[in-house]
Amino acid sequence: MAPPAKIRALLPPTQAEATSTKIADLEARGLIAPEAAAGLEAVAARYAVAVTPTMLGLIDREDPQDPIRAQFIPQTLELVQTPQESADPIDDAAFSPLPGLVHRYEDRVLLKVVSACPVYCRFCFRREMVGPGGEALVGDHLDQALEYIRARPQIFEVILTGGDPFMVSPRRARDLTQALAAIAHVKVLRWHTRVPVVAPERVREDFVQALRAEGVATWVAIHANHPREFTPAAQEAIGRMREAGISLVSQSVLLRGVNDRLDVLQELMRGFVALGVKPYYLHHPDLAPGTGHFRLPIAKGQELMRGLRRTLTGLAQPTYVLDVPGGAFKAPLDLPYVQESAAGLQLLDGTGHWHDYKG
Ligand SMILES: *Cc1c(COP(=O)(O)O)cnc(C)c1O
Ligand code: SF4
Repeated sequence: MAPPAKIRALLPPTQAEATSTKIADLEARGLIAPEAAAGLEAVAARYAVAVTPTMLGLIDREDPQDPIRAQFIPQTLELVQTPQESADPIDDAAFSPLPGLVHRYEDRVLLKVVSACPVYCRFCFRREMVGPGGEALVGDHLDQALEYIRARPQIFEVILTGGDPFMVSPRRARDLTQALAAIAHVKVLRWHTRVPVVAPERVREDFVQALRAEGVATWVAIHANHPREFTPAAQEAIGRMREAGISLVSQSVLLRGVNDRLDVLQELMRGFVALGVKPYYLHHPDLAPGTGHFRLPIAKGQELMRGLRRTLTGLAQPTYVLDVPGGAFKAPLDLPYVQESAAGLQLLDGTGHWHDYKG
């Protein structure tokens, strides 16, 4: 979706412009009302704040319901915590044999390479762990993680995450890539990142080249939640990765007030496909503290998914998933398109009608 004209006038941000990390700065930019600032300091004291120039430039300042604002500008609602919410909502800790490493599924591990992100999303499921100045996976901890992977031939895929792993320098990205590619049984490196849309200037040619290595396929899962996030600079960053032969998939979070409408989700998923990015996951928000205002009923998400199934090319279909608290698995949440009937089976068509199938 092209941004409204009054927003486009604010683009492009100059790269010299800094990321906003302070309530006072957001107030000075007119994104926080002076009377709200004091209350929001308590939010900022608890959860990291950062909004990149690219995202600042996308916010329609006259719209209090702006979907970009909702994702990055703190709200006092974040101080409301429900009993179901948890600091580690998907129980990474229980599946972490070593610092910075999570091994939940036999054939793949997560490596948390940095704790910093370019932005701090207000709905983040790791919001208690991410932030500036946190630990990076370097030195002995990195060596131990690599040794763990080397010793387990069943590990086929390494997923680089964080924080946002695209926050590392091109040199560190290359060192990580080369070290992992040197392990014969590791065939796939997958980076999960929000950088290509929120800080596309970081995805320079040298960084992209650093992600490639002989003997491994590099995949990048790009996190975007609203079609307006596909700025020209983001499109170019994604194009550079495609041209380098990197396989691209998407990751989005279904968020109240951001993308909980069929037309917005359609445009988001089509936006990915048009850029050569295969929609992969649409996450139901995890039970992270202070994020209740973003969660919608799963039944509503299922209805939106049926809408996508009815209207979009198969290429544009994500899987709607929930990480089950306790950390056991990612549960697909889609409603079934097949049900048992007295005659055999019934199949649901695109208009909402069930058809008997006897086979
Ligand atoms: C989500 C997740 C993965 C990746 O799951 P895929 O379904 O392969 O994308 C891997 N490890 C952990 C610990 C996860 O939470
Ligand atoms: S970029 Fe990802 S890890 Fe970082 S704050 Fe946003 S959702 Fe959390």
